[in-house]
Amino acid sequence: MEATLNTFMRQQLLDRRHRLEHAAGHSDAHSHLHSLLKEVDGALARMEDGSFGICESCHESIEPDRLMCDPLVRICLDHLTGQERDALERDLQLAAEVQRGLLPRQGLERDGWHICYHYEPAGLVSGDYCDVIDAGEAGLYFTVGDVSGKGMAGSMLMAHLHAMFRTLISVRLPLAEMLKHASRVFSESTLPSQYATLVCGRAKPDGVVEICNAGHPPPLLVSRGNITCLEQSDLPVGLFASEEFSVSELRFEPGDGLVIYSDGVSEAMDPDGVEYSTDRLQDLIRGHGPVNAPALVAACRDDLTAFRAHARKMDDVTLFVLGRQLPAREFVYMA
Ligand SMILES: [Zn+2]
Repeated sequence: MEATLNTFMRQQLLDRRHRLEHAAGHSDAHSHLHSLLKEVDGALARMEDGSFGICESCHESIEPDRLMCDPLVRICLDHLTGQERDALERDLQLAAEVQRGLLPRQGLERDGWHICYHYEPAGLVSGDYCDVIDAGEAGLYFTVGDVSGKGMAGSMLMAHLHAMFRTLISVRLPLAEMLKHASRVFSESTLPSQYATLVCGRAKPDGVVEICNAGHPPPLLVSRGNITCLEQSDLPVGLFASEEFSVSELRFEPGDGLVIYSDGVSEAMDPDGVEYSTDRLQDLIRGHGPVNAPALVAACRDDLTAFRAHARKMDDVTLFVLGRQLPAREFVYMA
């Protein structure tokens, strides 16, 4: 295991030990706290003798993301008892429920914008991040991201990003400033190996979108039937404490749209190991005509599902569409 990770976890355990000791006091009335304290001491001792992170049953490594969520685990997934496995399953189900609760409302419409998305974890929980915040006259803020790591550890980072951006957006900083703050907070409050790629933007009532890409796959701009890959990108959020971000401005006409996706979409594989690819996604979007957010999300989701067929899901999937609505009469005319 990485030395930095070990140092971090050791510090976490020491903090936890300090708090437990304080809570347990000197009485024996809190027997559960005393037994927890004993477990923490056991983990610290295993760090000293080098057996930390090794399964007590098979002597192979314990899954790093499980250790990160709970440094007290001593058994790898394969060697849990039925009861332990059930408890873990219940924890994951609960985490999945919490995560679903963090997702934005589907199909939000405001000031001529229409937002829809498809969010699909590879397992029970996802390391992808998707949020939309209605800031009234300031417009609609949207973020789509992907944190390093999957499963439980990924979902914890995702929840962290979610809370952080919700707080920062309420302060109404300019987009570049907001990302700068987010990157600093994220890098100071997570492990050095943890970061997030993300696209963050603000759709204003006048049809202008401010957008910033922090190392995420290039968003696709659909305008009058043409697709442009927005290649401009900065470093992911959380890599360094002091990062700078650049913001672009795009003007949307009715029928234009923006498609943001996680690499779980472009790198999805069919049963023969062929990649879905950005080209296929672009072809599909091109064939769709003027952007209608819900219809486009449904078409992409269905095509991806059909493509993957029974192949195992390798990564979390997020596909997000921001569409500039056509005036009602044009819908009638086109129908
Ligand atoms: Zn084992």
